[in-house]
Amino acid sequence: MADRRNRAVVVGAGPAGFYTAEQLLAAGFEVDVLDALPTPFGLVRSGVAPDHPNIKAVTRVYDKTAAREHFRFFGGVTLGDHVSRADLLERYHAVVYAVGTPDDNRLGISGEDLRGSHPATRFVAWYNGHPDAADEDFDLSAERAVVIGNGNVAIDVARMLVLHPDELIQTDAADHAIEALGRSQVREVVLLGRRGPAQAAFTNPELRELGDLQRADVIVDHAELEGVQAPEDATKRRNVGTLRDYAARGADDRSHRVVLRFMFSPVEIVGDERGRVRGLRVVRNRLDHDGRPVPTDDEELIECGLVFRSIGYRGRPLDGIPFDDHRGVIRSQGGRVCDERGRVCLGEYAVGWIKRGPSGVIGTNKKDAADTVAKLLADAQAGALNAPVVDDAGWIDERLPDLVTWDGWEAIDQYERRTGEPFGRPRVKLVRTEALLAASRAPTRATPA
Ligand code: NAP
Repeated sequence: MADRRNRAVVVGAGPAGFYTAEQLLAAGFEVDVLDALPTPFGLVRSGVAPDHPNIKAVTRVYDKTAAREHFRFFGGVTLGDHVSRADLLERYHAVVYAVGTPDDNRLGISGEDLRGSHPATRFVAWYNGHPDAADEDFDLSAERAVVIGNGNVAIDVARMLVLHPDELIQTDAADHAIEALGRSQVREVVLLGRRGPAQAAFTNPELRELGDLQRADVIVDHAELEGVQAPEDATKRRNVGTLRDYAARGADDRSHRVVLRFMFSPVEIVGDERGRVRGLRVVRNRLDHDGRPVPTDDEELIECGLVFRSIGYRGRPLDGIPFDDHRGVIRSQGGRVCDERGRVCLGEYAVGWIKRGPSGVIGTNKKDAADTVAKLLADAQAGALNAPVVDDAGWIDERLPDLVTWDGWEAIDQYERRTGEPFGRPRVKLVRTEALLAASRAPTRATPA
């Protein structure tokens, strides 16, 4: 019998999954990539803000991977539902989990579940047309929103809330979001950091971009920057510089504003008699010797009708795969999945956010995937991969006749682009699973059922 290639399955078709697939294909593996959604690209499609098309252009790199021989994509396949960990271990020499970290961190304060208090993850999924968020309903009738957190997701959410409809209509934001944001009454967004300007987690272009919005002023009070030393870290130093520019610039009397406030932690989301958010009670912090926020006695109430919690993501335990509940990631040693006693699970690997936690930009996942793949290849060399007992290449199609192959995704892609073209938009996203499946099967039809 001719030499068979090693077979790998990558669970999750986001950036980490695609970089892993590329490197395994280059090393001579056959690679199947599964995704729970009918569409590939993970957070590039469902997380990157719609007004950042240049970041989304990275999918061209993933298209090249998908065009390689021995690559297959199966969309609409959920691990733990349609296929099990055992199914994969029966059939592949290596199983790589690239499932990301879908859940939001909670603040653990009272009022978090009031109407008008939302995890940023849901809002992001909604405006990006993720099928699971298509039925979300964001009441944007309040004039002030508070976004808790000082990372890039918080900045994305703040920006989306104040974009001019003309800026939004050019994007691939879901139609339901364009419509709702167009009617939004939100005029002011407070971006709330629990630490200072020198500790904010924003990256430089994202913070600078806030200053270029069509209809929103960026407000930073001089007092926020008093006594702030230039940080050693270059990114943080440039952020402080940008914040000083904003403080010097002042307001331009535009219709909307983003107000950056620092050194405050939320202590309670306050509701009205109808269970709706009416304010956020916050406490002023000071920083201890290790730079950690410590509450003082100084409290205030920020009146607002909307609160978005944007304080990081965490992974979800999956189908018996060892999980570190504290960190919210798959338990691994640098990408080799291991149990709680540190024993390696042969042939199982993790990459991306579900391995290292939700940090870094898209490109960070290339190096991250390379680190895991290097271990996988060393294990292959040492004869220490998983030993599959079944060799049935058609198993997934047979089990799931509704799944979406790469051809199916290309049909969806063409449909969405074609629909966007007359409006000068990159695409009009299909946001319902049934519509996506119909488009995947009907490449030449004008309208999916
Ligand atoms: P992040 O960068 O880790 O920021 C999380 C923020 O939440 C930090 O400011 C953190 O403050 C704050 N926080 C954590 N716990 C808190 C609490 N209990 N109370 C108040 N604040 C709290 O996470 P992210 O914004 O979710 O972004 C995830 C990753 O995706 C990041 O690496 C980000 O750069 C990346 N991303 C990139 C882009 C882009 O390139 N355009 C866009 C979106 C996301 P402390 O620092 O005090 O912990």
